[in-house]
Amino acid sequence: MTDRDWSGGIVRYPDPAIEIIDEERFGSFRIGNAVVERLWTGARWTEGPVYFGDGGYLLFSDIPNNRILRYDEETGQVSLYRKPSNYSNGHTRDRQGRLVSCEHFTRRVTRTEHDGTLTVLIDAFEGKKLNAPNDVVVHSDGSIWFTDPGYGILYAYEGQHAEFELPTRVYRIDGQTGEATVAIEEMDMPNGLCFSPDESLLYVSDTGDPENIRVYDVDGAHLNNGRVFAEMSPGKADGIRCDIHGNLWSSAGWVGAGYDGVHCFAPDGALIGKIHLPEIVSNLCFGGGPKKNRLYMTGSQSLYAVYLETKGAQTP
Ligand code: MG
Repeated sequence: MTDRDWSGGIVRYPDPAIEIIDEERFGSFRIGNAVVERLWTGARWTEGPVYFGDGGYLLFSDIPNNRILRYDEETGQVSLYRKPSNYSNGHTRDRQGRLVSCEHFTRRVTRTEHDGTLTVLIDAFEGKKLNAPNDVVVHSDGSIWFTDPGYGILYAYEGQHAEFELPTRVYRIDGQTGEATVAIEEMDMPNGLCFSPDESLLYVSDTGDPENIRVYDVDGAHLNNGRVFAEMSPGKADGIRCDIHGNLWSSAGWVGAGYDGVHCFAPDGALIGKIHLPEIVSNLCFGGGPKKNRLYMTGSQSLYAVYLETKGAQTP
């Protein structure tokens, strides 16, 4: 396990926070002279990182503080992007570059237009209110896929108390018609999600019972052959992202030192490497400009990043 100093002192290369489990499949990703950086701290629960390569910045949620923050890559400054954010959680960008957000408080998924106005994409299904959308991803066909576990109505801290009107599900919003359909109903608390590089697979993490990551074959608007991809117990996976090689980079937490941080799984589900952090990681995304070789990690009260010798499959 890492004996990495997180107090702001000098870190000797190579960074002991990056653990290589499978030398052949993960060893080349660790850059010898790159350190895991704690970029900023001061939030209560960070989530939903989304990268804007055109602007050179990252947005991320601070859910209990009801705000979205902006990290500027050039200056390293963090500033307020939006408050109130309706206790926003996960974000992504659609194919037109617009921000798509899951809102806990208002129990909806919204799109921020280029002029700044908000468009509600969905707030109910078959006449019943959504629970509290958590995370969202956009397919290249324009469809929007999101999870609805309902943490924002379970805890006033992250939204407001309310009754569940619908089962916990994953939904798909059609890119052309805007119509929503149920994609997954068999998961307990579907949370983070991402597509494989060729979009033939959809990965979805479950922060309920069992604590695992499932994978589905994507067939247009439908998902088939759901199966367990990785077991996370005794901890949990939340936000997930694929790199260009099809490896799945998963947030990991709720166990402690030696587990908490980021776990990297090969396409066959084998755990090949870890990034150890001193805080629980909720979500992650690739950024760093056109190279997409910088992994941003929202870790509880802080924002972390590390350069890797791989790149994100999709931006954001
Ligand atoms: Mg989440």
